[in-house]
Amino acid sequence: MSLPDAILGTLRAVLPAAPFTPLHEPEFRGHEWDYVKDCIDTGWVSSVGAYVDRFERDLAAACGTAHAVAVVNGTAALHVALELAGVGAGDEVLCPSITFIATANAISYCGAVPHFVDIEEASLGLDPQALERHLEQIAEQTADGWRNRLTGRRLAAVVPVHVFGHPVRMAELQAVAARFGLPVIEDSTEALGSTVNGKPVGGDGLLGTLSFNGNKIITSGGGGAILTNDPDLARRAKHRTTTAKKPHRWDFVHDETAYNYRLPNLNAALGCAQLERLDDFTARKRTLAGRYADAFRPLSGVRFFEERPGTTGNYWLNAILLDDAEQRDPVLATLNDAGFQSRPLWTPMHQLDMYRACPRADLSVSDALSGRLVNIPSSPKLADAVAS
Ligand SMILES: *Cc1c(COP(=O)(O)O)cnc(C)c1O
Repeated sequence: MSLPDAILGTLRAVLPAAPFTPLHEPEFRGHEWDYVKDCIDTGWVSSVGAYVDRFERDLAAACGTAHAVAVVNGTAALHVALELAGVGAGDEVLCPSITFIATANAISYCGAVPHFVDIEEASLGLDPQALERHLEQIAEQTADGWRNRLTGRRLAAVVPVHVFGHPVRMAELQAVAARFGLPVIEDSTEALGSTVNGKPVGGDGLLGTLSFNGNKIITSGGGGAILTNDPDLARRAKHRTTTAKKPHRWDFVHDETAYNYRLPNLNAALGCAQLERLDDFTARKRTLAGRYADAFRPLSGVRFFEERPGTTGNYWLNAILLDDAEQRDPVLATLNDAGFQSRPLWTPMHQLDMYRACPRADLSVSDALSGRLVNIPSSPKLADAVAS
């Protein structure tokens, strides 16, 4: 049997029969309707309201951080988190090339330049050793911090991404970043619900970011959040995402050129109801991932991507790794033709026109993996019924 057919047979054995199985589908079986209706009934649908405050409290509790600031989407969260970490025009920010476009775009919004570093196969995230080796080669210390001696630009921050919810090696990355005086901003937009030694992902960096887009593990329709343990950064995050308006009974005085990145109460209401379901979603997604792992084990030429020991991923998107990149497109064609929505890894950032000229380290692992990875259906409900 061909590899694409063997993989198709494996999906058929694991997943419930259906004419079409999306890659990831939101599920609304809790209090979503009640909370959204409450917004409409009370008139509190827009930029302030009790659900925004509650969502922020509940998110901070879920992520084990002192503060969470709700914003309009994950990209906006990254943009403001980078600004608050001091990233500005002409700076360079170290990040993976294997990520969703938002990471690189948010760096660009600050007038800064992404500087791509390789990932490791074990976590699909930034490789601490590769980061350290690269910084040893290109970084030089100046009176006001470290700069890239090849470009002359200041090195301003490191942004690891927990790809598909698989936690990066945060402690090691933090140690390397600290050695070069770089703040860490965690792109945790895919990792809500993932833990390392029982501790939720997202609160280890100076700032962390979440997304609640429709395809993420929980959704508020659209939305995002900035996480931090620093009360001053939390206050600044709220101020800069709410037009920097000074509190006053009637005066409109704004003390900075800031953003309207507020999350509407209507979206926060949906988010609150979804967050109540997070543990359930994560548990079912892990059940599904376990079934995939077992079912793929006997196959040769492909393996199911499993979490790194010591980490508990949310398995936001399940992934298989093919031995041979030549098989990727035939596999994608076979699965999609049979109604199992599947897709390749994002095109690496350094291969996109806007980011081709950006500084980069050796990216051989990124290049090799990007041709071999396929995401397969991952909705929590797929764990509920076992295929016949
Ligand atoms: C989803 C995502 C974002 C951005 O989130 P939006 O809410 O869509 O703006 C950022 N980074 C990564 C890695 C993501 O997957």
